[in-house]
Amino acid sequence: MTFRDLGLNAPILRALEEQGYAKPSPIQEKAIPPALKGRDVLGCAQTGTGKTCAFAAPILQRLAASPAAGRPIRALILTPTRELAIQIGESFAAYGKYLKLRHTVIFGGVGQAPQAEALKRGVDILVATPGRLIDLHDQGLISANHLEIFVLDEADRMLDMGFIHDVKKILKWLPQKKQTLFFSATMPPEITELVNSLLKDPVKVAV
Ligand code: AMP
Repeated sequence: MTFRDLGLNAPILRALEEQGYAKPSPIQEKAIPPALKGRDVLGCAQTGTGKTCAFAAPILQRLAASPAAGRPIRALILTPTRELAIQIGESFAAYGKYLKLRHTVIFGGVGQAPQAEALKRGVDILVATPGRLIDLHDQGLISANHLEIFVLDEADRMLDMGFIHDVKKILKWLPQKKQTLFFSATMPPEITELVNSLLKDPVKVAV
């Protein structure tokens, strides 16, 4: 199985090759084809399995295929920690090297001004931790009205870190009609409940 077999196209294949990725990992093999088709995906996978590429590559390909005027936020990736947010941002930069999409990363513990400036310039893809996302949203700097794809990364860690209330608050802003890609290493009851309320006929992928 190759990345090409999964349905990824030339600019992304070239970027993955430059990353030195010889072949897809199991989560990538299983999640990329349905994600490219617009299906919701429930992925049971830990960090280190290649799950970032499993959601980032389809997001890049889908957004690049249908350009939008005015750079509204079209994809949101919610992740629990600053470190993960930064890594995910680096992955979008690497895999999207040959595409013209813009992304930015927002997280707490640093000044808001540069993040606010980046948002004002317009981004297609926003990677965020929950607290800072809520802060900037409440300042009117973030609109989810044009959101097409939502990723909840490390949902069980969100729960462990006490972010579940923030996550539920954020979910209320998002349009009903969207594609959701949901990743969690474990499925405690509160996460199953969230999955049932959020995902529509998901393709379930476990690695
Ligand atoms: P992740 O689980 O997304 O944090 O990825 C873990 C590590 O695996 C990262 O350093 C990725 O760059 C790398 N990686 C992801 N997919 C592949 C692949 N198909 N082949 C080789 N390395 C990969």
